[in-house]
Amino acid sequence: FALSVQVTPLPGEPCPGVVTVLHDVTELRRLETIRQDFLANVSHELKTPLSSIKAYTETLLNGAIDDTENRGRFLQRIEEQADRLNNLIQDMLSLARIESAQQALHFTAVGVAQIVAACLEDYTPQAQSKQIDLAIVPGDASLAVKADPEGLRVILNNLIDNAIKYTPEGGRVRVSWRGEGEAGEMVAIEVEDTGIGIPKSKLPRVFERFYRVDRARSREMGGTGLGLSIVKHLTQSFGGRVSVRSESQTGSTFSVHLQRA
Ligand code: ADP
Repeated sequence: FALSVQVTPLPGEPCPGVVTVLHDVTELRRLETIRQDFLANVSHELKTPLSSIKAYTETLLNGAIDDTENRGRFLQRIEEQADRLNNLIQDMLSLARIESAQQALHFTAVGVAQIVAACLEDYTPQAQSKQIDLAIVPGDASLAVKADPEGLRVILNNLIDNAIKYTPEGGRVRVSWRGEGEAGEMVAIEVEDTGIGIPKSKLPRVFERFYRVDRARSREMGGTGLGLSIVKHLTQSFGGRVSVRSESQTGSTFSVHLQRA
């Protein structure tokens, strides 16, 4: 708490009155810490691929360009790091747009079965390349939610992308949906995997910006650490919420709860 005391003469009173003002600065301090952490994270995340690009370029300029055996590999690393920077910038811009509500959201009734089918189609090649069995559990084909179709696609794509990324070869990913709430006023869409899971102690943090359970593994998979944060903010902008259940080494289930249209 911050305390400020003002001594003010009160009208018609011989003695000045004392006004004590208590400000709760705990919340302000918390927000300031979040902002500073975010800036530190952003600069670290941007600097790492840039340093890598610079190091490989210098090596090439210092003679490795003539090394026919290795130059291809070095150039490939430069391309990978440039892709990583690109993903990071795209994700940061998406998050900034959602948070400042600049993104024009067009709320309509979105058919769940149709949007889930479209997302699954996008990820079939990625799943096949890891021999992951990716499929829909057919639900009520008439269920629709109040959402922006593009935004809902971003939410499901991020969850399916993670499910495939964090599930070893030969695993399974299922997407399902059902009505929920006493009067069936909500719809839950779930993405379930048989992947590496998330330890209980880490679960509350996975929706934080740049939080990763295993930083090295996430990077290796091309992750930015912003996907779940984007999912959370978009879902909230639709008046919904996202939750997760997970068991280490067994699998995870992410559920998006949205208002039924
Ligand atoms: P990233 O780009 O690192 O995947 P996300 O914000 O999408 O970032 O996810 C944050 C972290 O949560 C990931 O780094 C990973 O540790 C964990 N995570 C997300 N989805 C899953 C999943 N389906 N299975 C296991 N861990 C997951």
